[in-house]
Amino acid sequence: MNEFHDRGPRRVGQVKEVTSLANPIIKDIKALTNKKSREESGTFMAEGLKLVIDAIELGWTIRTLVYAKAAKGKPLVEQMAAKTVASGGLVLEVSEKVISSITRRDNPQMVVGIFETRWIRLKDIRPKDGETWVALDRVRDPGNLGTIIRTADAAGASGVILVGETTDPFSLETVRATMGSVFAVPVAHATAEEFTTWKKQAGFSVVATHLAGSVDYRTIDYKKKPVVLLMGNEQSGLPEQLAREADALARIPQQGRADSLNLAVATAVMLFEARRHLLSLSEGK
Ligand code: SAM
Repeated sequence: MNEFHDRGPRRVGQVKEVTSLANPIIKDIKALTNKKSREESGTFMAEGLKLVIDAIELGWTIRTLVYAKAAKGKPLVEQMAAKTVASGGLVLEVSEKVISSITRRDNPQMVVGIFETRWIRLKDIRPKDGETWVALDRVRDPGNLGTIIRTADAAGASGVILVGETTDPFSLETVRATMGSVFAVPVAHATAEEFTTWKKQAGFSVVATHLAGSVDYRTIDYKKKPVVLLMGNEQSGLPEQLAREADALARIPQQGRADSLNLAVATAVMLFEARRHLLSLSEGK
């Protein structure tokens, strides 16, 4: 196991200058575009100084901070470098060629952070009064997942549960689409069976969305119990097995020729409707 993958006792942080694409640490970082490498190392990449600051402020563990030479001396970059070193991480000062190749962009961000991935366990989730969670059945598209995590953050949702085979919340594309909300929104994953079993134990309602839903989404009581909004797969919608478990099958009435809404858009509509109900509760209206 090399230095980057070393998850043993914390080393004293250090700063290295790297200009070669052949450097083994750079190769390891570039490999994080593959899910297998992310899983094996338990790390992922986030681009941009703002994301790195947000992540560190929210208590995520940074393993490596990479910055381009052009960013050297900028006070916030220096602060993040100092925090990385203080927490035992590695700081790499690299050429623009190296940072372009890490992020696969011609105009790369000047700063990249490598963080430890973090999942919450489904069995630890006990939705409380006033909470809304989102469960996504087999979400495939990283852009959709990232947008949903970002929207869940903006709508004050408590977290996102990924059900079945899904795209990775820690892929570069998903993290980009979250605009940093990946650090603010807890994410769990579960099989459909685990989700069904979990659903039976806890005191909350599952409101599933379905094109053939029998209930107009605006008429649902989102305040009576905590709510888990269950959304279907982009291509095939919600399977019968999961739809059966729902306490309500909600439909968002549509006009025009579109046969459905985009998954992230439908999730946003549902989240903000639930939020509207909850806010009017807290305001006593
Ligand atoms: N062809 C799929 C189907 O038959 O369900 C379309 C799936 S749609 C792109 C993805 C998910 O967004 C759906 O499974 C559902 O959860 C939600 N959705 C999209 N439009 C909706 C609507 N008008 N009412 C309720 N849910 C909707």
